Amino acid sequence: MQNWSTSIKFMKGVGPAKATMLAKLNVFTVGDLLEHYPRRYEDRSQLKPIQFLQDNEVQTFRATVVQVQDSKPRRGLTLTKITVRDDTGSVQLVWFNQPFIKRWFKPGAELIISGKAERRFGQIQISHPEVEVDDGADLLHTGRIVPVYPASESVGQRWLRTLLRQALDTHGAVPEFLPPDIISQFSLLDRREALENIHFPQDSAKLEAARRRLVFEELYLLQCGLLYLKSKNKKGGGIKHAPDGEVVKGVEERLPFTLTGDQRLALKDIKADMEDMTPMQRLIQGDVGSGKTVLAAIALAKTVENGYQGAMMAPTEILAEQHCHTLSQLLAPLGIRIAALTGKLTRRTKEEVLSRLRDGLVDVVVGTHALIQEDVEFKHLGLVITDEQHRFGVHQRAKLQAKGALPDVLVMTATPIPRTMALTVYGDLDVSAIRELPPGRKPIKTYAVGSDMRQRVYTFVVKEVTGGRQAYVVCPLVEESEKLEVQSAVQMYEQLRGTHFKNITCGLVHGRMKPAEKERAMNAFYCGEVNVLVATTVIEVGVNVPNASVMLVEGADRFGLAQLHQLRGRVGRGEHQSYCILLSDSQNPETKERLAIMAKVQDGFELAEKDLSLRGPGQFFGTRQHGIPDLKIADILKDSSVLLEARRAAQQTIAVAELFDGIRTVLNERFGGHFGMIFNS
Ligand code: ADP
Ligand code: MG
Repeated sequence: MQNWSTSIKFMKGVGPAKATMLAKLNVFTVGDLLEHYPRRYEDRSQLKPIQFLQDNEVQTFRATVVQVQDSKPRRGLTLTKITVRDDTGSVQLVWFNQPFIKRWFKPGAELIISGKAERRFGQIQISHPEVEVDDGADLLHTGRIVPVYPASESVGQRWLRTLLRQALDTHGAVPEFLPPDIISQFSLLDRREALENIHFPQDSAKLEAARRRLVFEELYLLQCGLLYLKSKNKKGGGIKHAPDGEVVKGVEERLPFTLTGDQRLALKDIKADMEDMTPMQRLIQGDVGSGKTVLAAIALAKTVENGYQGAMMAPTEILAEQHCHTLSQLLAPLGIRIAALTGKLTRRTKEEVLSRLRDGLVDVVVGTHALIQEDVEFKHLGLVITDEQHRFGVHQRAKLQAKGALPDVLVMTATPIPRTMALTVYGDLDVSAIRELPPGRKPIKTYAVGSDMRQRVYTFVVKEVTGGRQAYVVCPLVEESEKLEVQSAVQMYEQLRGTHFKNITCGLVHGRMKPAEKERAMNAFYCGEVNVLVATTVIEVGVNVPNASVMLVEGADRFGLAQLHQLRGRVGRGEHQSYCILLSDSQNPETKERLAIMAKVQDGFELAEKDLSLRGPGQFFGTRQHGIPDLKIADILKDSSVLLEARRAAQQTIAVAELFDGIRTVLNERFGGHFGMIFNS
């Protein structure tokens, strides 16, 4: 892979200024450039005689320049007209305000031209066509299947194509790293040929084959990484927890409800994993409100009973505090010592928690990302739990795991994802699914309404509150600016409290409050002191107030289906009939469809499939939701069959030490960052 990592600055034609612009496209090295794959292609390979050019269609033809003209019909307007012809007719090429164009094309020059033909006054015209002089050299911009790149204002298509041609010519001799057996077994193109054809395809069949090879390669490496993690764990050497004793039984007996069938099955899986020598690597996938927390509590009790410590990580302060509270209720009566590690702690208290963790004087710690900081050490960590895993990356999970010697790992998520996608994101985990909701839950009634209904909606909220229930009002998401998001929440709060809700108690919680303030606001809502909680998306995940029966989402069009489903999941967590009201005035048909789907579909798995097919995997996870690595070419939805092949190939590779050795370096380069580790042995 010689020169692959050479800085782009050293390529001919790339000075410091261009290098800065390329950096904005995430291109820093020659390798990055070669992997700057086209966004799409334009087929300009079929040349047509001028006579057969169709109106209003983009077409390609070869012709000779006959005449070049410049005129200034108005002040500030330059019109450049070039007449070209072939044996069958003539065409006028037109440019506005690009006087330099005329210097490029001299009468007699042979051109390949692509553009949309329009008939005007009996004459075929094309404005601003793509033109290339046909001088016998390889064509880059016309007369072929032409790549169209992710570009920017300052980095144009033509320049990028030329640069890529140069990169392929001077640095394209890339060695193969896929094992030969795998190449032949899955009929893959070799690397060099694939790179050549993904940029400058010979024909559409070659393009297809090139893409398949590169998608395969990307997914194969990712699967190798995931399977490697899994196999490393399967070597054993984990903690063999004993069968349930008094503590676990005590927790289970004291539960205020009986577990559902799915909860019991998942718990059985968890216990079997924990009682085995192989460290547990289990994902609990259960829809919002299906009751995952109680399983975490029982697993924590089990590790403590066996003399170990447990850690539970949640993505938000609010959720960590809530878990701490729930776990204290369930576990403290059996003598289990629980501590929270969140942002609200003063330095002194934090130091104290840290030292007690180190000395083994705390059994269970609950916290946010604070848990993976370097200063957090355990005496003997036996179980690691991440809640709402889709908010974390694999490497964050790995970091927490590394604080113990092969601890058991339990991962929980409410984001239901299709199987092929699960293989990509959670390919290293065993999965238990909870599809059943606790008994007595009534389906949440969901309505998508415009702001003309606002008055009625508020009256309804007041009626629910008067009946003893509570409500959330969630303010529009402002992805670009938390500050604006907070401002709108504060405004909404002031306004509601002064008008519609002046006879009931309102609270406010948002991301810019100090941790202690946030906690105070949440507590007031938990204990029912506050009836209506105006909030930003800080309450999106995990928050559990079974008495709340209304979720009112303002500007619902700004949220994705997955997020709306999470928000809706904040209500309907008890026996009361609950309502989710989605306010939006958007007339965008796609948005309307999305909100209509929400109103119709309750089941998270079904919603996920719909969302995924509606928006593709990138947006499905939303910019705030991580856990999936950046894939350069694969699309896990469309490429699911290649994914399954790649997984099979990765399984073969992992099984043979020499094969795995062969891809170690590439693996580290590509996905080391994602996994937060080095694949060394
Ligand atoms: P999630 O799966 O969304 O994390 P939680 O664990 O927060 O859900 O549980 C939601 C609510 O359901 C909690 O109030 C919890 O006490 C309650 N719950 C959990 N399991 C059961 C059950 N088997 N029967 C009745 N209520 C349950
Ligand atoms: Mg939860």
